[in-house]
Amino acid sequence: MEIKSAFKRRGLLYVLSSPSGAGKSTIARMLMASDDGVAMSVSATTRPIRPGEVEGRDYHFVSDERFDAMVAEGAFLEWAHVFGHRYGTLKSEVIKVIEGGRDVLLDIDWQGTQQLKQVDPDIVRVFILPPSMEELERRLRKRGTDSEEVVRRRMDRAEAEISHWAEYDYVLINNDAEKCRELVHNILKAERLKANRRVFLHDFVRQLIGQGLVSAPDH
Ligand code: 5GP
Repeated sequence: MEIKSAFKRRGLLYVLSSPSGAGKSTIARMLMASDDGVAMSVSATTRPIRPGEVEGRDYHFVSDERFDAMVAEGAFLEWAHVFGHRYGTLKSEVIKVIEGGRDVLLDIDWQGTQQLKQVDPDIVRVFILPPSMEELERRLRKRGTDSEEVVRRRMDRAEAEISHWAEYDYVLINNDAEKCRELVHNILKAERLKANRRVFLHDFVRQLIGQGLVSAPDH
């Protein structure tokens, strides 16, 4: 067996959830800039594209009919209704990232996280809380991309989203984006070292105790 492939580990599904406005997208972007071993799964959505968003980078923007067809084709690992639109994680996106040898970062809500946990119990779930509801509202307004009615609906929904915090493996409070990015990164780094994901360890330890000559990996 080639030693390099023997040291591969299983890619992980790393879920970030938070009420919208808690800084999750910023943290996701910062994480990817500081770690090239993780890439985002681009979801499909029926919601309209916002100014500044790019098709295929932020989302795959699809019609209701197309979304229906994708559901029928079994294209989704999970999907849910959020703010009157549908959002879903595409199997093809997750496979593309995993086959590229990277971990998958998923920005999905609590409903999607619950479904994904059923599909793959090994997922890592992180919930990001805002420091206060006032701060959350301030951040939503600062963004300025949504109408007043949408901001109100998002504030109403934030409370419902937050009520699911205890279903997550890690819960962080985003007082400071860089500090929060560092914690999200630390969690990822530690999770990568978990024994059950480092499938190469079986062969490595067999070699270690069975033979004198062992090429040790550097991580
Ligand atoms: P936004 O419209 O602000 O981009 O996203 C709204 C919410 O939809 C966010 O809380 C985000 O986490 C969630 N979301 C985005 N993509 C998916 C997805 O593929 N599945 C699920 N379940 N939620 C998603």
